[in-house]
Amino acid sequence: MLSKGVLQQIVNIVGKQSVMTEVEERLTYAYDASFHRHIPDLVVFPTDEEQVASLLTLANEAEVPIIPRGAGTGLTAGSVPVKGGIVLSLTHMNRIIEINPENLSAIVQPGVITGFLQKKVEHHHLYYPPDPQSFKISTIGGNIAENAGGPRCFKYGVTRDYVLGLRVISPAGKIWTFGGQTIKNVTGYDMTRLIVGSEGTLGIITQATLRLIPQPEAKKTIMAVFSHIEQAAETVSGIISARIVPAALEFLDDVSLRCIEETLRIGLPLDAAAILLMEVDGFIETVEREIQMIQAVCIQCGANRITVAHNEEESEQLWAARRAFAPALLKLNPTRVSEDATVPRNKLVEFVKGIKEIAQKYSLKLALAGHAGDGNMHPNFLVNSRDLDEMERVEKAVEDLFNLTISLGGTLSGEHGIGITKAPYLGHELNKDTIGAMQAIKHAMDPKGILNPGKIFAGDSVGLPFS
Ligand SMILES: Cc1cc2nc3c(=O)[nH]c(=O)nc-3n(C[C@H](O)[C@H](O)[C@H](O)COP(=O)(O)OP(=O)(O)OC[C@H]3O[C@@H](n4cnc5c(N)ncnc54)[C@H](O)[C@@H]3O)c2cc1C
Repeated sequence: MLSKGVLQQIVNIVGKQSVMTEVEERLTYAYDASFHRHIPDLVVFPTDEEQVASLLTLANEAEVPIIPRGAGTGLTAGSVPVKGGIVLSLTHMNRIIEINPENLSAIVQPGVITGFLQKKVEHHHLYYPPDPQSFKISTIGGNIAENAGGPRCFKYGVTRDYVLGLRVISPAGKIWTFGGQTIKNVTGYDMTRLIVGSEGTLGIITQATLRLIPQPEAKKTIMAVFSHIEQAAETVSGIISARIVPAALEFLDDVSLRCIEETLRIGLPLDAAAILLMEVDGFIETVEREIQMIQAVCIQCGANRITVAHNEEESEQLWAARRAFAPALLKLNPTRVSEDATVPRNKLVEFVKGIKEIAQKYSLKLALAGHAGDGNMHPNFLVNSRDLDEMERVEKAVEDLFNLTISLGGTLSGEHGIGITKAPYLGHELNKDTIGAMQAIKHAMDPKGILNPGKIFAGDSVGLPFS
C-alpha cells in the first residue's frame, strides 16, 4: 500500500488526471497476455521525461516498486506487478519526434505503436523491419525492453539491430544517454545493448533513436503445403542450405491451421500436416528468382501444393492468418501455455519431432507455429487451467521441452523474454556464475531493487550478487 504522502507527491508531479486509483480501473493493469495477474497499488501515466525522472526519484526514496508498461502484450508477465507497487504506463509518451531520411533514422518516444511507426516511415520510402506479430498494438518501448523479434528476423534481425541510442531514466531518477544517432559508436561500454532486452529491470526507456533502411522495391508471399510435418522442417533447412534468404520463413502445423480457419474462414488447407509461409523481398528481378528457387526446394522436399499470392490483398490475407494464430487458439481453448524456445537452425527437424513426442508423452493437445527460419518455435499446449491434472502434465512437458532445447544447443527464449514464467528455468541454460554476474549488474544499476522486482531471477535474490 502507498502512503497518503507518497500518493499526494505523485499527484503533484503528474496531475490528478494522470493517476488511476480506483480498484476497478487498476484491475485492468493487473494483466498482460500471459496468465499471471496482480493488481497494482497505483497506475500512473507520465507525459514527459521529467515526470518519469521525478517519479523514480520519489519511488526510490520511498522504496516503492515501479513496473514499466507499454501495451501489456507481453507473454511472460513482464509488466505484471507481482510485488505490487506502481505501474508506470508509457502509453501517453507516444510522439514520433523525428524521421530523418538523410541519416536513415527516427527518434521516438517509448509509447509509439510499432505498426504506426512502420506506416509513417513508409511515406518516406523507408522501412523499420522489426515486426512482432503484435505490431498493431505493442509499443516501441516494450519491443526494446523485450528485444522483440518477428517473421522478418530471418533476413533483417531483431529489434536490437535497429536501436542506435536510448535515453533511459535510472531507478534513482538520473538521466542516462546511451549510444547516439550514428551507425558506429564505441565510446564506452555498449549500454544500449544492455538495456535492450532488460525487461524493464534496469531503467525506463523514455526515448529511442532507431535505424531505418530503404524500403524494398518489391515483395511476394508464397505458401507451401506439406503432408508430413518433417517435410516442412526439412524444407526450412533446404532453403537455408541453398543460401536463399527470404524476409520471412514461418511455420504452422495442422492444429494451428484448423484453429485459424475456424476463426477467419479464408480457405486455409485443412488437409495439410503443416505449411510454410514465406515472404521474399528486394529488387523485382531478385524476388522473381528467389521465388523460383524456393519453389524448387519445396518440391524437392515433398510439398504437395505451392501458392504464390497474386497481389497485396492475397498476401495480406495470408499474413493476417499468421497473426491470428494466438487469438484463434485462445478463442477455441480456455488456456494456452505458450513457449518460444529456439534452437540452432540445423537442429529444427530434430526439434519439431521432439516437441511432438513430448506432447504425446503427456497426452497434451499441441499447436505448433513459429519463426522456423530462426529456429524459433512456439509450442502451444492447449489446456484448461482449471484441470489440475492437465496443468501438472503441462509443467512436466515444459520442463522436458526446455531440456530438449538445451540439449540441442538452444535457448529458453528467442523473443518473449524470461519475465516470471521462465524465471524458474534460468539455471537450465545459465550457470550460477553467469546468473551472479547478471544479478551484480542489476544490483549496481538498481541497488534498492525497485525496478520491476520479481522478474528474470527466480527468488529475486538481487541483493546477494554472486551468492
Ligand atoms: C498476439 C501476440 C503476438 C505476439 N507476437 C510476438 C512476436 O512475433 N515476436 C515477439 O517478440 N513478441 C511477440 N509477442 C509478445 C509481445 O507483443 C512483445 O513482447 C512486445 O514487445 C511487448 O510490447 P508491449 O508494448 O506490449 O510491452 P509490455 O507487455 O507492456 O511490456 C513488456 C516488457 O517491457 C517492459 N517495458 C515496457 N515499456 C518499457 C519502457 N518504456 N522502458 C523500460 N521497460 C519497458 C515491461 O516492464 C515488460 O517487462 C506477441 C504477443 C501477442 C499477444
